[in-house]
Amino acid sequence: MMTAINNTFATDRHGWAELLPQRRPSPPLQGGHRVAWTVIGAGLTGLAAARRLAALHPGEEILLLDARCVGQGASGRNSGFVVATSQFNGGFDTNQLENYRRVNRINLAGLDLLDAQIAANAIECQWRREGFIHTAADNTALREYDYFRCYLEALEADHELLDENALHRLLGCRLYSAGIRIADGALVQPAALVRGLADSLPANVRLHEQSAVLEIADRKPLMLRLANAEVSCDKVIVATNYEAPALGLLRRYIVGSTLAGSFTRVLTEAERAGLGNLKEWGAISLHSGGATVRLTSDGRIQIRNSAEYHGSRLLSDDELVARQAIHRAGFEKRFPQLAQVPFEYAWSGVEGITRNGTNFFGQQRAGVYLAGGYNGSGVSRGTAFGNAIADYASGQASRIVNDCLANAPGAWMPPRPLLDIGAFFKVRSRFKGVGADR
Ligand SMILES: Cc1cc2nc3c(=O)[nH]c(=O)nc-3n(C[C@H](O)[C@H](O)[C@H](O)COP(=O)(O)OP(=O)(O)OC[C@H]3O[C@@H](n4cnc5c(N)ncnc54)[C@H](O)[C@@H]3O)c2cc1C
Repeated sequence: MMTAINNTFATDRHGWAELLPQRRPSPPLQGGHRVAWTVIGAGLTGLAAARRLAALHPGEEILLLDARCVGQGASGRNSGFVVATSQFNGGFDTNQLENYRRVNRINLAGLDLLDAQIAANAIECQWRREGFIHTAADNTALREYDYFRCYLEALEADHELLDENALHRLLGCRLYSAGIRIADGALVQPAALVRGLADSLPANVRLHEQSAVLEIADRKPLMLRLANAEVSCDKVIVATNYEAPALGLLRRYIVGSTLAGSFTRVLTEAERAGLGNLKEWGAISLHSGGATVRLTSDGRIQIRNSAEYHGSRLLSDDELVARQAIHRAGFEKRFPQLAQVPFEYAWSGVEGITRNGTNFFGQQRAGVYLAGGYNGSGVSRGTAFGNAIADYASGQASRIVNDCLANAPGAWMPPRPLLDIGAFFKVRSRFKGVGADR
């Protein structure tokens, strides 16, 4: 089995960032520094936390450190579904309505924050807040469709039910028997989003990329050790997702699940004409092991339908080539009319998962705060958590802070090698009954 947590912070060129122009990263941190606040991790959580701290403490400089270049984490590698209304697999429980509402308040807070920041900073990231479609092809997903329909009705969430013909008309795909179009939610080019957020940070945030924090030493003030720098600071916000255990936090509570997907080349006009009426769309399976599929605004089909426990690491080039067979099968069964269209890119990404599906938010030890672990739904939620953890660490109360604090505690995972075995089976179990939806 592979190592559970690595500390090498390799840069991998694959993914949505490959579709963007080159970007010059900010310089690595060097030397000794004294600041009031440091945020570790410049994904959506860390970026939101740093932005909020900057507003709350205009007289302070906020240090934001990332081990890699911005966009290399899950925030730049996801499928770009920005969720307003979460779908919970495995049944609709009326006793959970308050909990569903709480999660959706958090989602919506993150969605609204992103919407406002993208508009205020004119971030070009193919943002489209027109909702997306949840799909079902096979029996298990069709059961989830029924649960989801009842849940949306109970929550009075704006949605439209779609049958096979309607789905074919919209997407050009005959695989799905049923779908639900949710009115709110957005689609985004994730790497363009995180870059845009990083490049428009307030003046009192200082970002350093390729600046891995290797240790948070428990002193007063806290001491952060990097390869070529040291930072003493009063408070730290840790936003390192599944890599928190390398800093001695959430050990045995979070691991990484590795997902992979592929993009076609840009479709020709004739190929696009053979698809449905929607010019750009996102279809997310109602089965947890099913595919997420998009027609991007630049005319590519993107499909992500593999997930595995791989020691919390990205896939190598050879491993990616092997996974493309799974992506290809999912693509051709949806779009036989595009069977001649080759894939141009493949990529992987690692999402933080917990045993009981909870998220983490709060103080870990004196001066050290943490938010993360969103189990594959962290674009809107991570943004809200990041914003709220800055409030919480600054002593600001709010309804969203209370909502984030109300997460169930994390479920403990055993030490290795049982952790590896347990994580392997947990990720594999998401495909149970997936059938045609993969
Ligand atoms: C393939 C894939 C598809 C997904 N699809 C969706 C989707 O469609 N919708 C959705 O809502 N969610 C999706 N997710 C999940 C979502 O991307 C994540 O939940 C979210 O981006 C997590 O944000 P984050 O900022 O907490 O973590 P990350 O984006 O992982 O950021 C953590 C950052 O911390 C840095 N770091 C780690 N250790 C250190 C250290 N020691 N020192 C300094 N920096 C460090 C990392 O380099 C990284 O940049 C997907 C995830 C994957 C992998």
